[in-house]
Amino acid sequence: LHGLMMDYPLTMLHFLDRARRYHHDVEIVTKCPDGSLHRYTYGAAYRRICRLANALAKLGVESGDRIGSLAWNHYQHLELYFAVPCYGAVMHTLNLRLAPEQLAYVINHAADRMVFVDASLVPMLEAIHSHLTSVRDIVIINAPPGFETKLPNVRHYEDLLADEPETFDFPVLDERAAAGLCYTSGTTGQPKGVLYSHRSQFIHTIAAGAGDALSLSGTDTVIAVVPMFHANAWALPYLSASLGFKFVLPGPHLKPETLAQLIQDEKVTVAAGVPTLWIGMYQAIKAHGFDVSSLRALIVGGAAFPKTWIEAYEKELGVPVVHAWGMTEMSPMGTSTGTLSARTDLSIDEKIALKTHQGYAPPGVEIRIVGDEGQEMPWDGKSVGEIQVRGPWIVGAYYNDESAAAQFTPDGWFRTGDVATIDPKGLLTITDRTKDLVKSGGEWISSVTLENVIMAHPKVLEAAVIAIPDEKWSERPLALVVPRRADDRPTSEELHNLVAEHCAKFWIPDEFRFIESIPKTSVGKFDKKALRQMYAEGKL
Ligand code: ADP
Repeated sequence: LHGLMMDYPLTMLHFLDRARRYHHDVEIVTKCPDGSLHRYTYGAAYRRICRLANALAKLGVESGDRIGSLAWNHYQHLELYFAVPCYGAVMHTLNLRLAPEQLAYVINHAADRMVFVDASLVPMLEAIHSHLTSVRDIVIINAPPGFETKLPNVRHYEDLLADEPETFDFPVLDERAAAGLCYTSGTTGQPKGVLYSHRSQFIHTIAAGAGDALSLSGTDTVIAVVPMFHANAWALPYLSASLGFKFVLPGPHLKPETLAQLIQDEKVTVAAGVPTLWIGMYQAIKAHGFDVSSLRALIVGGAAFPKTWIEAYEKELGVPVVHAWGMTEMSPMGTSTGTLSARTDLSIDEKIALKTHQGYAPPGVEIRIVGDEGQEMPWDGKSVGEIQVRGPWIVGAYYNDESAAAQFTPDGWFRTGDVATIDPKGLLTITDRTKDLVKSGGEWISSVTLENVIMAHPKVLEAAVIAIPDEKWSERPLALVVPRRADDRPTSEELHNLVAEHCAKFWIPDEFRFIESIPKTSVGKFDKKALRQMYAEGKL
């Protein structure tokens, strides 16, 4: 017996419509390339989104066409986020920190028909243009006066919109139609395409905003520091129109001081980004005394947020942390500690201790951990296994990429490549990525745990642990440490003793090597692949 409820299509158009009807007077603030602030409302954005959809029609864009964006976080990018999928095309966010070959690879692999590009990023396209096989039109955003380019067939974003009507008859879409495309940032291999559907984005948006995930509402002011090309900026663009929070977009201005100033001036209540960013901002706040008391949540994900920094934000700055785990393949919501801040039964130290873990899966994500022999591991907080997931917003297959079939199990789960424990109440703790684990004398050593312990030393800014070959043990951990001050380093002995307090003896790295900085990936995480290569080439 089938239920008799409406088969209402779950598409992005629903969120766009909410922006127009409910949130038309709420502000979207962008820090422009010249440093000025652009302000307008969701109502004004809606009208420009209609103009853009009309322009796409005039250019002959067809349903399912992939449209690339190579852009920072700004209002025009937000307009694309809605105009493209609601028109029926596919929004392909391009990672602006990719190496030229990788950028050409993803544009060609996706067969993007058009690319919208920030004027400041045009040199990236100029460098690869002769290798692009599918791009017919290029649209420049924010071109300053006198702007010139060698690219052929260019148009300007504002010219495109100028004469178009402010209404558009958006089509009724199949909820299973593709809405967005995002390639993994290739931290552990060639980028692979994740093709989101309207349905997956819809369900993910509803779930990601809820109390047990990111816990957002229309009373918030949210700054998306996480780039719009990094896993849908963690659903914030779709959540903005859906919930109608005041949305702050920092444009290309990612210096910690500028971000802290924006948070202070716009009275931001929720900020979202990767750990390295917040480590930098903490120092800026301490050095310049910015007032960030408006913040009620700092959403941190993309890499583990060490305890020492959770403590610094919660205790020194009074900013509650929401630590979340996810990946491009999961749209990206996987787990979150979103419910912990509101728990009155826990002391602040207990909350901080729990927030060092990656949290609980919200409704919609099913998780299991699987051992080396393929057996499901118990949720006892000790047994380690690879995380496998399934759910309505989790990748079912990569876009045009049969080679990655091994990442899916025969019984329909996605193999994340992350390794974790889960406690009896479902609290997930990432211990490593399979590729980053250190295997010493037949035993696994968690590089993430070692990093957390080392970063707890007050004189340490950042630490990364990589496996290096060892004749006797096959691999040993090497700790690479960036001191907070070059003239006041901790000693290796201090670090050795610190690790000895918290970890098994054989985990203690044989060497703590001090370096100036840790290379970062295109989305700001520690780049261990680069570190391993530097080590192999004797450059560390
Ligand atoms: P990439 O795989 O290129 O880094 P993603 O942004 O999709 O691109 O990264 C997802 C991965 O980031 C996860 O599989 C996991 O290894 C890591 N990750 C994300 N959030 C956390 C977290 N809170 N703690 C530890 N690792 C995390």
